[in-house]
Amino acid sequence: MKEILFVEPIFKSMIWGGDRLRTEFDYTIPSDHTGECWAISAHPNGDCTIKNGSYKGKSLGWLWTNEGQLFGNRSENKYPLLIKIIDAKKDLSIQVHPDDSYADSYEAGAFGKTECWYILDCEEDAEIVIGHNAKNRDELRSMIEQERWRELIRTRPIKKGDFFQITPGTVHAIKGGTMLLETQQNSDITFRLYDYDRLDKGKPRLLHIKESMDVINCPHKDAAVDGSSIENSSGAIINLITDKHYTVQRINIYTEMILDQDKDFMNISVIEGEGEIDETKISKGDHFILPYGYGRFALKGKMSLIVSYK
Ligand code: ZN
Repeated sequence: MKEILFVEPIFKSMIWGGDRLRTEFDYTIPSDHTGECWAISAHPNGDCTIKNGSYKGKSLGWLWTNEGQLFGNRSENKYPLLIKIIDAKKDLSIQVHPDDSYADSYEAGAFGKTECWYILDCEEDAEIVIGHNAKNRDELRSMIEQERWRELIRTRPIKKGDFFQITPGTVHAIKGGTMLLETQQNSDITFRLYDYDRLDKGKPRLLHIKESMDVINCPHKDAAVDGSSIENSSGAIINLITDKHYTVQRINIYTEMILDQDKDFMNISVIEGEGEIDETKISKGDHFILPYGYGRFALKGKMSLIVSYK
């Protein structure tokens, strides 16, 4: 099909969110503490609708179920990926996600969550949490029981353009002052390990210590990422990662590139600049899907895109 499916994002207010989804991306947001833009999502907690064309007004979840040919008639019972932009004004809780088999036993039919982060922007001294310092499970258990969080949690500095893969079982947290684009499995299962003893409406948020201990990898090992690229005077393609859940690439257009949509479907987010895809204008903050069989397409202009497919 030769029709681009433009997707209407959904926004979520969070205690740690800010207003940069409005000031930097020009979105209409529900509050000055908006933390998440669910940019391409078919998850029941935020099922995006199509903005244009034959499927205008239909949700992505509905399309997956009823118009499976748009996505190559895949075997998954739901859209496999979820794309978010996150604006963390304050620190997010320290958390960990399960893999597919733990997720399915925890909530029947649920996917686990592998996710990856492309840092769109951050403050000069920004950091994130990835991993922990416990050498073995006994040490992990005692550090958690004794609340030795500073000793346990591993932080590292970040800068714009960095990319991180967060595999299931990895302790992680986005810290304040960071905007990033997240590509993840279509899952909303998060086990919260530590929330800095913060209160939300007067109460601490629920923690999942047992589930966290069940799934945390020990000792921690950083996941490998790709980073290989091809570049010429018209643009560059940077391969960020390929694993069993997704391939994620960054594409920088300097003038014009002709590419081929030969996957079951392709998610594209414009993260900087503006231009055209096949004569349709696109700019920073647009998100769309190229369906099955779309074939060759032309990107023109000066812009940076994040592309994912499975
Ligand atoms: Zn996460």
